[in-house]
Amino acid sequence: MSCIFCRIAAGEIPAQRVLESEGVIAFHDLNPQAPVHVLVIPKRHIDSVGTAGEDDAALLGEVLLQCRRVADALNVTRGFRVVLNTGENGGQTVPHLHAHVLAGRSLGWPPG
Ligand code: 5GP
Ligand code: ZN
Repeated sequence: MSCIFCRIAAGEIPAQRVLESEGVIAFHDLNPQAPVHVLVIPKRHIDSVGTAGEDDAALLGEVLLQCRRVADALNVTRGFRVVLNTGENGGQTVPHLHAHVLAGRSLGWPPG
């Protein structure tokens, strides 16, 4: 298995886990861009939102709900941002779907 996030999901590569549910796991980003920077990934490999299929709808919903649970678990009270970089121009560097949960500071808009 060569996908780094599949290996994290399988426990083959260590990660600082925050939460786990049936279909998804959440862990701290290795290179945090905000005081709270957590990644939420489906355990089952999906490349990106750009290639997700109709059958993935429930899992995609679980990813978003898990983002909210991460914010609750980490006592985020002043709001957070969920980012799903998708494809080359979207800035996606790891080709396994992941939602970034960013919080703990005011986040600029528009993004770079
Ligand atoms: P992308 O640029 O694809 O949207 O985000 C990939 C994210 O994964 C980056 O924020 C990067 O810091 C994070 N990342 C890459 N490899 C690892 C790893 O092995 N462990 C963890 N915890 N985060 C990783
Ligand atoms: Zn994968």
